[in-house]
Amino acid sequence: MGTISKNFSYREFEESETAKARGITNVISSFEVRDAVRELTNTVLQPLRDAWGLPLHINSGYRCPKLNAAVGGAATSQHIKGEAADIKAEHPIKLAQLAYDLGLPYDQMIIYPTFVHFSHKLHGEQRRQVLYNKSYKGRRITTKK
Ligand SMILES: [Zn+2]
Repeated sequence: MGTISKNFSYREFEESETAKARGITNVISSFEVRDAVRELTNTVLQPLRDAWGLPLHINSGYRCPKLNAAVGGAATSQHIKGEAADIKAEHPIKLAQLAYDLGLPYDQMIIYPTFVHFSHKLHGEQRRQVLYNKSYKGRRITTKK
């Protein structure tokens, strides 16, 4: 595994401080997950990166079930399928607004105080849902009708 797109690699999706600290081997080991990561990157993350114009850091990408449990993720988390990535942001609302304005095919975009969760389903319709984590108290994105 290696490069996915101009600015993203599979390694960035596997990186995890928690995995390292707990001795969990967090590697993408199925074609399904690899395909999901590639689709998320090519349809959402790379176009967002191009428009943003600055590096985007993945806080948490793929999570093997063991890692997902270790970080307290929901059992049905899209991170387990390789369909989600949390992108670090000083001003998450700006990144979220850009993704919305670009009309990117995210399934869910969840705004947290220090990052934005983006998901993209490998199969089926993208819901284009915009959600706010309960710990996020900042302004909301501006939507157009
Ligand atoms: Zn997430």
